[in-house]
Amino acid sequence: MDVAVIGAGPVGLMLAAELRLGGITPVVLDRRATPDERPRANGLGGRIVEQLDHRGLFERFRAEAAFAGPFPGFPFGPVRLNFTKLDSPPLRGLMLQQPRMEALLAERAAELGVEIRRGHELLDLDTVRGPDGEYRLDAPYVVGCDGAHSRVRELAGIGFPGTTDDELLRFGHFRTDQPFDLFTSVKGLKQGWNRRPAGRVLLTSLTPGVVIVGVREATPEPPGEPTLDEFRESVRRVLGADLPLGEPLWLSRTVSQARLAERYRAGRVLLAGDAAHLFPAGGSSLNVGLLDAVNLGWKLAAVVRGDAGDALLDSYHSERRPVAARTLTQTRVQALLERLTGEDGDALRTLFGELAAFEEPTRHLAGLMRDADELPYVPDLPLTVDGEKTRVAEIMRDARTVLFDFADRADLREAAGSRVKIVTATGPEPVADALLVRPDGVVAWSGDDPAALREVIGAPGR
Ligand SMILES: Cc1cc2nc3c(=O)[nH]c(=O)nc-3n(C[C@H](O)[C@H](O)[C@H](O)COP(=O)(O)OP(=O)(O)OC[C@H]3O[C@@H](n4cnc5c(N)ncnc54)[C@H](O)[C@@H]3O)c2cc1C
Repeated sequence: MDVAVIGAGPVGLMLAAELRLGGITPVVLDRRATPDERPRANGLGGRIVEQLDHRGLFERFRAEAAFAGPFPGFPFGPVRLNFTKLDSPPLRGLMLQQPRMEALLAERAAELGVEIRRGHELLDLDTVRGPDGEYRLDAPYVVGCDGAHSRVRELAGIGFPGTTDDELLRFGHFRTDQPFDLFTSVKGLKQGWNRRPAGRVLLTSLTPGVVIVGVREATPEPPGEPTLDEFRESVRRVLGADLPLGEPLWLSRTVSQARLAERYRAGRVLLAGDAAHLFPAGGSSLNVGLLDAVNLGWKLAAVVRGDAGDALLDSYHSERRPVAARTLTQTRVQALLERLTGEDGDALRTLFGELAAFEEPTRHLAGLMRDADELPYVPDLPLTVDGEKTRVAEIMRDARTVLFDFADRADLREAAGSRVKIVTATGPEPVADALLVRPDGVVAWSGDDPAALREVIGAPGR
């Protein structure tokens, strides 16, 4: 085992697949005996969708998705952003329930030969309790993809400063044979979030015969598992009426948090996903978390293979933490827009909505939701390679660093060396003779000078 990945959630599974593509052997451990079937995220939006395309996973996700393509708009808290007037759609999306995403990622990891040990809990950085008792781990690297209450983060002594909301959010999925109109006939409710003086109520349905209700109110979290009675009382307090809730399929309770790990790396320990960041508004967590995995995977694989110096791992912290910090800023604003009550809140929402209707602010906010990243990513250009039509995403399938040679330059190909995949291609109006693209899609170099290319490839930490 080269790397222990703690957590078989979406981020751990994505990371393990990236590490296998990088030619090393990860083992994924999860304390849950079976996959988590609780409904959580309903989809993905942002650059991760392009990244899934780079790995040939987009088609797999699309085959099961209720929607796949450019989003015509997106909620920024209570403000709906309209993308239809922008000349290029800023946000690609896939609507798919999180348990299905995790099943597809687990299937992919297994195909690549990743070992997933379910029912194995990390106790300390070198000790695991499995179904047959405790054993030593002895992994050179440990990556905590173990969620909000990360044990790995705690064991590595990495601080997780931030704030906890004083509102409790309850979610229920209810089986019902009642028409949806019956729900919206109660107290003037509409589909989506409904603001009331005592809190907010969400009403929606993604599957016929199942209604999803959410209730947010400022109240302390009661002990024990969520119950139907507790849910009903919360609806009654916020709405001043009962809803015709049917049989509960799922009940959950959560408190939003806004937190960012002080470091993403402490020696041989690294953090990714919810273990590294928690955002107080929806829509961004999986995008950022899965992109952490894509940024870290090739770097950790290169270091384990001995093809890169250990310093490369520090760039995981310096590249990904600022992205989470920017995402924290935009999700804090979304949360504030949602929760500020009374006339002050109404005024803020009205003015923010007016500003966000202009093209530049729409584009800016969409960019923050897309990836909040300053690094240059390769666009999915159509290419011709050996007379065959292809595109950048198809060249990136095997997660290698690629030199795209657009000018048939033997000197550049030679400068790239043997570890880089070389693709001599023609494309639409090449901006340079060649592009060096990292496995995560970042353009590491573009130009025509072999000495400069050699310098980038031989840089310390590479
Ligand atoms: C109600 C709800 C709605 C949400 N909606 C959205 C949404 O619309 N969009 C979005 O992007 N995100 C959403 N999220 C957030 C999203 O679900 C998380 O960001 C995502 O699950 C994080 O993935 P992860 O792999 O980092 O961690 P997790 O999914 O939390 O997985 C961590 C895994 O680590 C395991 N583990 C923990 N400790 C140990 C240990 N000591 N040893 C071994 N294993 C361990 C756990 O069993 C778990 O399987 C929502 C979350 C909730 C609760």
